[in-house]
Amino acid sequence: MLKIAYSPIYKYTLPEGHRFPMIKYELLPEQLLYEGTITNENFFTPKQLTRQQILLTHTEEYLGKLEALTLSRKEERNIGFPVRKDLIERGKYISHGTYECALYAMQHGVSMNIAGGTHHAYADHGEGFCVFNDMAIASNLLLQNNLVDKILFVDLDVHQGNGNANIFKDDDRVFTFSMHGAKNYPVRKESSDMDIGVPDKIEDQAYLGLLYEHLPKIIDKTEPDIIFYQSGVDILATDKLGRLSISKEGCKRRDHFVLSQCHQNNIPVVVVMGGGYSEKISDIIDAHANTYREAQSIFF
Ligand SMILES: [Zn+2]
Repeated sequence: MLKIAYSPIYKYTLPEGHRFPMIKYELLPEQLLYEGTITNENFFTPKQLTRQQILLTHTEEYLGKLEALTLSRKEERNIGFPVRKDLIERGKYISHGTYECALYAMQHGVSMNIAGGTHHAYADHGEGFCVFNDMAIASNLLLQNNLVDKILFVDLDVHQGNGNANIFKDDDRVFTFSMHGAKNYPVRKESSDMDIGVPDKIEDQAYLGLLYEHLPKIIDKTEPDIIFYQSGVDILATDKLGRLSISKEGCKRRDHFVLSQCHQNNIPVVVVMGGGYSEKISDIIDAHANTYREAQSIFF
């Protein structure tokens, strides 16, 4: 069964006028239930991360500032949300959800989190709407508990997974692959184990061609025990931040290819949500829903 991490705490209210589409965390599960892609039985409620678990990935200093709410104004501006206690609590559930998804993926082949993919968070600071790095936290927990030896990140959000790249730059157990807009945020890119920077306005055929060419080789080379797939839908042509020209169908084919590769190679896959900033909320929800539709049809 497709196990999906979700909790009412994922819902979050931003101050009036904030343009981040926080509503997607409510609308996506609603849409998936409504259309019958999933039932309530698919959901599980994640537990909360402990301090010890967070400190496997983030620094004591950064966690201390979060707990005491003493981030500087600049640090808070870099994150892009007002950093309140409830935002931090929410992040602890989401990141633990990604870890629990990994445990479910090892049983069922795939598991998905209705949030997460917060790949811009570094060990010692947050940025780009990311406070905790859920993929890194989950990976470090898996490694510490000797549940896996090798992990592959497939990060196809339009923005480079700079936090992921930095956190694991000296760790051979985690291979970071990021395919992203070369001209997009972050301006100063980190070096992932493999980066593909694509030009602005790239269309389906060229984009998918690169993915089809490289992903199978990366999987062959790294032989991962588990894959974390960051399935951001900010690659869409309709995205306000994305700068690419990928159609919704192209985005769906991307998901299909990644999930099929995992399935064919018998590698458990955790899907984390990533970004999506199209003008119309229905485009965001439909593109994210496609990832779930694909997972259901490929794995179950
Ligand atoms: Zn993004």
